[in-house]
Amino acid sequence: MNKRKLISKIIYLDYHSTTPVDPEVMKVMLPYFTQDFGNPGSSAHPYGWRAKEAVENGRKQVAELINVSPREIIFTSGATESNNLAIQGVVNYYKEKGNHIITSAIEHKSVLDLCRELEKQGEKVTYIPVSKSGLVEPDDIKKAITPKTILISIMLANNEIGTIQPVSLIGEIALKHGILFHTDAAQGAGKIQFDANKTNIDLASISSHKMYGPKGVGGLYVGRKARLNPICFGGGQERHLRPGTLNVPGITGFGKACEISKNLLPTESDRIKKLRDKLKDGILTRLDYVYLNGSEEHRLSGNLNLSFDFVEGESLIMGLQGIAVSSASACLSGERNPSYVLKNIGVSDTLAHASIRFCVGRFTTEEEIDYTIEEVVRKVAYFRNIYKSVHL
Ligand SMILES: *Cc1c(COP(=O)(O)O)cnc(C)c1O
Repeated sequence: MNKRKLISKIIYLDYHSTTPVDPEVMKVMLPYFTQDFGNPGSSAHPYGWRAKEAVENGRKQVAELINVSPREIIFTSGATESNNLAIQGVVNYYKEKGNHIITSAIEHKSVLDLCRELEKQGEKVTYIPVSKSGLVEPDDIKKAITPKTILISIMLANNEIGTIQPVSLIGEIALKHGILFHTDAAQGAGKIQFDANKTNIDLASISSHKMYGPKGVGGLYVGRKARLNPICFGGGQERHLRPGTLNVPGITGFGKACEISKNLLPTESDRIKKLRDKLKDGILTRLDYVYLNGSEEHRLSGNLNLSFDFVEGESLIMGLQGIAVSSASACLSGERNPSYVLKNIGVSDTLAHASIRFCVGRFTTEEEIDYTIEEVVRKVAYFRNIYKSVHL
């Protein structure tokens, strides 16, 4: 492939941040902006009927992805809202039963920031530490359970290091103790086989834009056992749990995205893993002092999180040309501290500052991976020379 053409556009390796809308998804959404624009709550005319039909079709497609009943899916604006509704909803409903939540130290901010807020309001929260590979030890959860525990919330897969948590084992513990189990499945759903029905999961959050659907739409699976109080009040939509006029185009797109992911999952995951491994091996065989963050084995197929020793993290990330990646670098993310996820798996501040998250996705090509390997190897060598002249 022509190199100029290759670098004339920026290679996207940031699929954990968001994904482009799949063209097939886009096609399905378009009519619902214009001719089929009705409000699914309008039951008196065909505009409403058609919109309602589209929403219910979307609900069925989302439910099928995680093998639950369509009645158990609530549409929201995304996984942030789903996490908030699940956790706050349970906290408010089960006030009489208890006030203790168990979660992990490496959850998404939408869970951790909410838990900090709930602590201010008198809830007790246990943040389970993770192993060096980023895994929650189910036994630690068992030990943290008290008579006041009302909810366990552990993510399906981590957004920074891609670690896949042992949710079936955690689900069994929750079931045995009669405690509800919520999982933030924003990164796992559509990427790994996930059967919310078989795994004793009571609540699961999903996001459309992490799986080639549009932004601003997501879902919360609410299993039969779970009871929630709403956190918003209004027109009674979504079984009164999430009032407000439904995002019909978004929901049709989200549904289609789920259908596509379900169909592609077995082959896509293999293809993505091959590219990710090529990227990993390409970098690791040609550079020393590069470390893989997270688990080798229990990991999302597209995720590669590497720390580069003996470089200034910021310069490296700024210096990588034509590649869109994420970094936990303090300067770039506008935060003073490096990634709390890397910190929690024992990565030093220096290495955490010099870490890069590469994510391979549906539209990544082999040429893009080849270019990325060359560019990373070249730039790391270049910045290590500068580093050496300054520090050694
Ligand atoms: C992206 C993400 C979220 C938030 O999802 P939104 O739909 O953007 O609100 C929550 N949890 C995880 C693990 C994520 O990766």
